Amino acid sequence: MTTQALRLGLAVAGVAFGASVGLAQSPFDWPVHDLERPQPPIVTPGTFSSQETPGKPPSDAIVLFDGTDLSAFKSAKTGGPAPWKVENGYVEVVDKSGYIETKQAFGDIQLHLEFRTPTPPKGTSQERGNSGVYFMGRYEVQVLDCYENQTYPDGQAAALYGQYPPLVNSSRPPGTWQVYDIAFEAPRFDAQGKMVSPARVTVFHNGVLAQHASEYTGPSGHKQRPPYKAHPAKLPLRFQDHSNPVRFRNIWVRELQPRAGEFE
Ligand code: MG
Repeated sequence: MTTQALRLGLAVAGVAFGASVGLAQSPFDWPVHDLERPQPPIVTPGTFSSQETPGKPPSDAIVLFDGTDLSAFKSAKTGGPAPWKVENGYVEVVDKSGYIETKQAFGDIQLHLEFRTPTPPKGTSQERGNSGVYFMGRYEVQVLDCYENQTYPDGQAAALYGQYPPLVNSSRPPGTWQVYDIAFEAPRFDAQGKMVSPARVTVFHNGVLAQHASEYTGPSGHKQRPPYKAHPAKLPLRFQDHSNPVRFRNIWVRELQPRAGEFE
């Protein structure tokens, strides 16, 4: 391959990569191995969780729930205090109390959360350990007890509800802590409100890749696939009350920035 062909190939790959992550800069804006290129910020990593003990978040995380209180959340219905039950280091969904959402609004984020579906399990299909996390209050990654529990594939744990099943089902049994590590990219809209870049999500479920840069077709819906509608660049993260006493712990986010020296 000639140098020119190689450069062209890399440029095409660069454009494709840039398009896929919403960044405009090409690697050719910097000479190769340029020491003047901005250094990445330093982040002290956290620790992994065990079943008994939640791990520590990385140094630049915004902690949403550390096991003690729901001060980072409010009721999505009333705007008042989040009405779910906090005890023994976890928060539990309270039946029919409604969704809760963060007080802070977010766009592109990394999200870590741990969940535990009830044991002994009750109900079947969608009535068993159902909750969910809604990025920007709109784009759901499903939470469900999918351990030996058949349901429709686009409603499984780690599904983009009603749109994309997970790549695999890596669920742990009910009563054990499970982990979601998620990278979410907010959709972009132009000045006329037209969607120019869809919401995208990558999900690791218990460390196993379940969604790989999957693109939402629009907001999540039940028995429907609504189209995109322009909305603010940052919105609260929402958790679902589906009337099942699902527990959560160790919830944190990192706001994602473009690579050092790059721009959108
Ligand atoms: Mg749900």
